[in-house]
Parts: sequence; structure tokens; C-alpha cells
Amino acid sequence: MERACVIGAGGFIASWIVAKLLDRGYTVHGTVRDPDDDEKYGHLKKLPGASERLSLFRADVLDYDSLVPAVRGCHVVFHTACPVAHKFEDPDAVLKPAVDGTRNVMEACHKENIKRVVFTSSGAAMIFDPNRSRDQIIDESCWSDPEACRKHQQWYRLAKTESEKLVSKLGDEFGIRVVVICPVVVLGPILQSKINASVGLVATLMNGSKTSYPNIYFALVDVRDVAEAHIAGYEDPNASGRYFCIACSKLCKEMIETLKENFPQYSYPEKCETEADLFEKFLNLFEKFSNKKILSLIKEFIPYEKMLVDTVASLQEKGLL
Ligand code: NAP
Repeated sequence: MERACVIGAGGFIASWIVAKLLDRGYTVHGTVRDPDDDEKYGHLKKLPGASERLSLFRADVLDYDSLVPAVRGCHVVFHTACPVAHKFEDPDAVLKPAVDGTRNVMEACHKENIKRVVFTSSGAAMIFDPNRSRDQIIDESCWSDPEACRKHQQWYRLAKTESEKLVSKLGDEFGIRVVVICPVVVLGPILQSKINASVGLVATLMNGSKTSYPNIYFALVDVRDVAEAHIAGYEDPNASGRYFCIACSKLCKEMIETLKENFPQYSYPEKCETEADLFEKFLNLFEKFSNKKILSLIKEFIPYEKMLVDTVASLQEKGLL
């Protein structure tokens, strides 16, 4: 009987990891900040297998002591918790939970003699390097440049870069095998009741809130594939290091066309123009990429159109569109 801990269990990606772990017969320890908040975490308690094999632990990544009982007795810890937003005004709002939080999780794992950790990093830890040529293929060798992140106040990108470097360093120091999954923009059906930042992007394109949108590349992957990759990162004996988790890269214009074809009843941006400002230029670097390494873990990706259609269907079902 495998026992796994999922840190930040109520999040969009983590909820799918919990669901898939339960489905595979794992016993799951899920950490949440307030187990009594049914609006936020009620969906976890309703997952098949949850009543028998899911325990929710009250824990905050900023509180080391709260993490220790949650990881105790587990074969693997999936550390997903980190705030996600399009912009952070206060760097510490993301740097502290990402970096201090990761240190606390790793120290709790070390104390409890956990030997396997799967860490959720991000394409954000790979993409932001102003010195990289636009022709370069983005793969696991790419890192965001911390100095450039600081200079351009890219706090989320800095936090994911620093926390990923830290988790690998502490893994080496503590003798914990760490596998890192670096997803790009994650779409797909939501299990939780409120919309999260990445799925919110699709809603923004459909709810009439924008009359124009820059025609940038969106690097996309389905949450069900991201969850599979995390679990394979533990179960596959050959898994090691970081994995760039990207299914496809689409221009915003193409995404809007696909959405319009399937859901013509919504209001879309009328214009989709390229604005060559710094931020968008770096996002456009997702044009050329390699997902060869992660295809050794998950075999194939959910197709692009299905990913978009299933995202919208789940928002409709939950009354969020
Ligand atoms: P989400 O739905 O917003 O979930 C964020 C999670 O982080 C929640 O479980 C939240 O816990 C937890 N969290 C934040 N601050 C915390 C703290 N101080 N203590 C404990 N937990 C805290 O986000 P998501 O999209 O699933 O993202 C999960 C992970 O994937 C993050 O590490 C993110 O960087 C990474 N990622 C996401 C995407 C994407 O497109 N969605 C892409 C690449 C990487 P509460 O429930 O207590 O609020």
C-alpha cells in the first residue's frame, strides 16, 4: 500500500494529482490551510476513494511544524503549493511561500526520512532569459535569469526559479531523490469550485472583458497530463531531474478561433495584435520547444482542441462562464 502526501492538495493541479492517486489505490495525505473550509476543499472529500483513503491535514508551507505530521509515513511527497497570479505587487507574497515554503517542506521530509519528492516547478523557471536567442529551442537545459527577473520585477518567475534550484540542492544534501515537473499554462477541467489563474485566461478570452488581446504564443498542457506526469515522476524508476511539461504552443489568435468554432455564443476580443513589448517578447520564446523528455513519462498528450473544449465545458458546468 503506497502512501503519498500532496502539499497544497486543494489547488487546481494538486486536486487532479489527489484524484489520480486515489484512483490508483494510494492512501493520500493532503495538506490544506483550513480543512473545515468546504467551499475550498469540499471537492476533495467527494472524490472516489476519499472517504476511505484521503486524510486532510491542516498545514501551511510557512509553518514547518505543521508539515511534519502530514509527511510522516509517506513513500513520496508531491510539493505543489505556491501562489499563482498574473502579477504580484509584493515580491514576498510569492517568494516567501515558494522559497521558504519549499525549504520547510524539504526539511520536514528530511526529518521524517522521506526519500522521494516530486516538485511542481514551471515553464516560468525556464523562459525568462533576455540573452537567449529567439531561435533557441526551449527544453530542460533552459533557466530563467534571476537577475533579469529582479530587474523586470518578474516575481513569480523568480520564485519558481529560486524554489526549483533550492529543492534540487536540498534533495542532494538530504539524500532525497527529487523529480521536477515544469508545466507551462495548464488548462483542462477544474475539480475545485473557484476558477484558478491559468484557467481564468480562457474565461478572459470569452467573457467580453477584453476588446483586444496581444497575439502572443500560449504554451499549453492539460491538467490531467500534468497530474499523470507527477505520478509517473514517482512511479517510473528511470525518472530523474526536470521535465518540461508542454503539449503545444498556439498563437492567441488560433486559440480564439478554436474557441469561437466550438462556442460561438460567447464574446471574444475583436482584435488580436502583436505588441512587441518586453514581456510578450519573452513569452513568444515558447514558439520552439522540445517535449521529448517528458514523452518518456506520459507517452502522449491530450489533444489541443479537447483540452480547450473540456476546459470550457467544466467552467459551464460549474456556472463560472
Ligand atoms: P492554484 O489552484 O492557485 O493552487 C495553488 C496552491 O498553492 C493551493 O493549493 C494553495 O493552497 C497553495 N498555497 C499557496 N500559498 C500557500 C501557503 N502559504 N501555504 C500552503 N499552501 C499554499 O494553482 P495551480 O495552478 O494548481 O498551481 C499549483 C502549482 O503548479 C504551483 O506551484 C504553480 O507554480 C505550478 N504551476 C502552475 C501552472 C498553471 O498554469 N496553473 C503552470 C506551471 C506551474 P490553499 O488551498 O490553502 O490556498
